[in-house]
Order: sequence, then structure tokens, then C-alpha cells
Amino acid sequence: MERAFEASGGGLDYLGDWHSHPDNVAEMSDLDAATLLRIARKVSSPLMLILAGSGSEWSPKCWMGPWAR
Ligand SMILES: [Zn+2]
Repeated sequence: MERAFEASGGGLDYLGDWHSHPDNVAEMSDLDAATLLRIARKVSSPLMLILAGSGSEWSPKCWMGPWAR
């Protein structure tokens, strides 16, 4: 992230959003998709990272917007 920030001359300061789905799967909900679309109106190619799982078993999944269902 630091390299990307420096390479952009300080213009890149936001990559996207992340959150977790405890006891669930790493798939986008309708709200997640709407959120990524809303972010994509302001940021070029934003990322949406979701961590899902429970206990010591968690896995990530990441999307790049814009995203449409
Ligand atoms: Zn979600």
C-alpha cells in the first residue's frame, strides 16, 4: 500500500472497503453490491474485501468494482 501511495504521488489514499461475515460465506450481499457500486461512483476500481468464517477458519474473497448483479 505504501508503494502504491508513493507511486501515485499521494493521490491514491483509498483502495476500498472490507468487513467480515461471521459464521457465513464470503459472498456479496445485495447491500454489499450496492455499497461497492456507490463507492465506484467516487473511486476508480475500488476493492471490496469480505472475510468469512468462524473460530480459526476464516477465508477472504475480494472483488473490484464497479459491480452489478
Ligand atoms: Zn457483507
